[in-house]
Amino acid sequence: MEVATDIAENLARVRDEIAGAALRAGRDNSEIELIAVSKTWPAEVIRAAAAAGQSIFGENKVQEAIVKIPMLSTRLEWHLIGHLQKNKVRKILPFVSTIHSIDSLELALQVDRIAGELGLFPKVYLEVNIAGEGSKHGFSPGELRAEIDPLLDLDRLEVLGLMVIPPFDPDPELSRPHYIALRELKEELETNAGVPLPKLSMGMSHDFAVAIEEGATSVRVGTAIFGKRKNTIRAPGE
Ligand SMILES: *Cc1c(COP(=O)(O)O)cnc(C)c1O
Repeated sequence: MEVATDIAENLARVRDEIAGAALRAGRDNSEIELIAVSKTWPAEVIRAAAAAGQSIFGENKVQEAIVKIPMLSTRLEWHLIGHLQKNKVRKILPFVSTIHSIDSLELALQVDRIAGELGLFPKVYLEVNIAGEGSKHGFSPGELRAEIDPLLDLDRLEVLGLMVIPPFDPDPELSRPHYIALRELKEELETNAGVPLPKLSMGMSHDFAVAIEEGATSVRVGTAIFGKRKNTIRAPGE
């Protein structure tokens, strides 16, 4: 059971580093949520993390998530963190509490409509393409300014805040300007819309400490907990 020991140790280390970053930033550690990103890992590996006290998990592919989630304890909480196609909304909604990847008004409308049919009230983050990368999903800051009011009007969606995946660079300091930009956009939208957007989903294995220093309330950490992923499992069309 070497794997289970490694995962427990990795989780303890990540939690310590979260607490350290919170302390440096003068923030309350308890306001930072750790999402263990379990994509590509089988159910028994996730079970080892759950046994070590981890209760929130993130998956990025609908097809993989809907197979794995029913194999695990109903006490675990699941977040979808990867791109969601409109035709997969009905499939995934019953399995997750939270979607981090609402990246257009059309997708938000679809989630709202289907949540209504299913009697659900999903929590969501609005994903922002903060660096304007052509390859990335997400609202541009300008789109979000224009569309925030209709997004906040959707009855079924509880909009928690903003989410970002910055351009990858191994140097975590290069993520910092993007995390600052996301926090500033959140503050601007809160002022303009007159409602709080309490949360920021930002930070991954290599840069979650920087994200916490810049205001992250939800960090999405895979590799630092589970180790390096092998080949990603891809479902057709994803
Ligand atoms: C895979 C993934 C992560 C976690 O990445 P690590 O570098 O393994 O921590 C975080 N967010 C999203 C959206 C991901 O797809």
